Amino acid sequence: MKPAPFEYHAPESVDDVAGLLAEHGDEAKPLAGGQSLVPMLALRLTRFAHLVDLNRVAALRGVSRDNGSLTVRAMTTQAAVERDAEVARAVPLLARATPLIGHFQIRNRGTVGGSLAHADPASEYPAVALALDATFELVSKSGTTRVAASDFFEGTWQTCIDAQQALVAVHFPVWGGRCGFACEEVARRAGDFALAGAVAAIEVDDAGAVRRAAVGLFGLGPTPLRAHAAEAELIGEPPPTPDGYRALGQLAMRDADPVDDVHASASYRRRVGAHLVARTLASAVEEARQAHDPPGAARAR
Ligand SMILES: Cc1cc2nc3c(=O)[nH]c(=O)nc-3n(C[C@H](O)[C@H](O)[C@H](O)COP(=O)(O)OP(=O)(O)OC[C@H]3O[C@@H](n4cnc5c(N)ncnc54)[C@H](O)[C@@H]3O)c2cc1C
Repeated sequence: MKPAPFEYHAPESVDDVAGLLAEHGDEAKPLAGGQSLVPMLALRLTRFAHLVDLNRVAALRGVSRDNGSLTVRAMTTQAAVERDAEVARAVPLLARATPLIGHFQIRNRGTVGGSLAHADPASEYPAVALALDATFELVSKSGTTRVAASDFFEGTWQTCIDAQQALVAVHFPVWGGRCGFACEEVARRAGDFALAGAVAAIEVDDAGAVRRAAVGLFGLGPTPLRAHAAEAELIGEPPPTPDGYRALGQLAMRDADPVDDVHASASYRRRVGAHLVARTLASAVEEARQAHDPPGAARAR
C-alpha cells in the first residue's frame, strides 16, 4: 500500500516548524526518522494532509552538558547517542538502553525525539526518561514549555504534545556520587520490541546503603511506569540479599499493568518483569558499590 497523498514541508528552522504546525494544526504531523510514522502512513493506519520534515533543522540535532543535566536535542539519532562518549559518561542508562532499540539500521534513522513522542509503552527511551525524571522541552508559535516526564506520557502512543507543538529537546539529570545503572529486557528476537523490560538507577552512600533509587518499567503497562513501591523499599537500606532482590521484583509488579496480546500473556509479562527488576537492581546496586565518586561530579539532589 502507499500513503494517502500529503503535502511535504522541509523547514530549516524551529520557528518555521512552529509556524507550519500553527498553520495546519491537526492536519499536520512532524516527520523525524520515519521508522514508526512511515510504516503507519504506508499501511494507512493514519493519514495527514501535511508532513513537516524535521530533518533539515540543524538546531534540533546534538547533545550538550550543562548545569547538572544532559540535553539531547530531538533529532539526535539513536545511533549518535550510542556512539557519544559524553552520553555514556553523563547518562549511562540512556547509552545502555540504546543498543536494545531495534536494529542498527533503525537506530541510524530513528531519533530520540521520535521515540519519545511516539510513546510506545514497550520502548526503552520512555522508561529511561521517566525513571530519571527527564524534562521535555516543547515549542509552539506561542513559546516554549517544559514538561516533567511524569506528565508527558498520557497513554499508549499518547503524550501531552498538542498538534501545534514540536518536541525540541529532552533534559536528563546527571546523577553524581556512587551510582550504578542497568537496563534489561526480554524480546522474542534480538531487535524486536520488548515483551517486558526494566531499567534501574541506584546511588549508594559512603556506607554502601541505598541513597537514591529509580526503577522504570516498559512493556508492562499502557505507558512506561515507575515502580514506586520497590524504590521506597530500597531507600535507606543496605544492599538487599538475593532473596531481597526477588521480593523487590515481585513488589515492582504491584505498579505494573500488563496486557494479554498475541505476543505474550499478562501473567507471563509479570513473571518476566519481576525477574528483570530483580536483575537490573542487583547489577545497578553492585555497580554503585564498586564506584567511586567521580571527581567534580555534580550531586544532582
Ligand atoms: C523493525 C522495527 C523495530 C523497532 N524496534 C524498536 C525497539 O525495540 N525499541 C524502540 O524503542 N523502538 C523500536 N522501533 C521504533 C524506532 O525506535 C523509531 O525510531 C521510533 O519509534 C520513532 O522514531 P523516529 O525518529 O523514526 O520517529 P517518526 O517515525 O518519524 O515519528 C514517530 C512519531 O513521533 C512524532 N514525532 C517525531 N518527532 C517529533 C518531534 N520532534 N516533535 C513532535 N512529534 C514528533 C511523529 O509525528 C510521529 O507521530 C522499531 C522500529 C522498527 C521499524
